[in-house]
Amino acid sequence: MNSAYYVARDIAYNRVHYPPLVDGFQALWRTIWKAKVPKKVAVGVWQACQNILPTRERLLTKRYEGKANCLLCACPMESVGYVLEYCEIARELLGEVSLQITCPVTPIFVFKEWMLECVHRVSLQQFEKFMVFLWALWNNRNAALWEEKPRLPADIAIATMSWFNEYKLVHASSIPRMKVIQRWSRPVENVLKCNIDGSFSQYQMKGGVGCELRNHRGEFQAAVRKFIATAASAFQVEFMAL
Ligand SMILES: [Zn+2]
Repeated sequence: MNSAYYVARDIAYNRVHYPPLVDGFQALWRTIWKAKVPKKVAVGVWQACQNILPTRERLLTKRYEGKANCLLCACPMESVGYVLEYCEIARELLGEVSLQITCPVTPIFVFKEWMLECVHRVSLQQFEKFMVFLWALWNNRNAALWEEKPRLPADIAIATMSWFNEYKLVHASSIPRMKVIQRWSRPVENVLKCNIDGSFSQYQMKGGVGCELRNHRGEFQAAVRKFIATAASAFQVEFMAL
């Protein structure tokens, strides 16, 4: 009977605690953090969505007094929405790669709203690729700012894709692998054992080789390593190591 009175009193005294508002972007945050992409990509995309990347628009709110325009095209204001979605470079890049994501016809003011739409529109794999391209766009913007050498969208597409494919190869956890536990075993007395290894980067087409000598007590004797400036495959580098 008196409950209405108590509710009214609590409201009057500001004692009512409303349940916290549900974050409508949960699906976006979940997808960003579960995506199988390098951590720096996930962090960069998250920063873009939170609008905390140091774009010129953002810097203008922090006592920056320089130019506000886009470094890469005629966009009047460099904001996250412009760099990553409305800029000519962004449009061309997303046109180069086979993603079912098209840039909106007008610049988006709340970037995370567009990202949320994309999460619902494409598969997780497509979204991972998309994240990597957004990160590449931001990198390209930084290259334009610091090194004055932005790249062509087609070049960004090729370099980014081969970099990401290499990452996926290295981190392919979906391929079940036999866990082989290899222990170093001693050679017989007065014999030295030589272990060798090679490393190869498909993205840079470079590699490295190394070998190490140990005696029958497992004591280190000598080692050598060498950088291979041009390599064609992991097999070639392993062979060179040998
Ligand atoms: Zn632009």
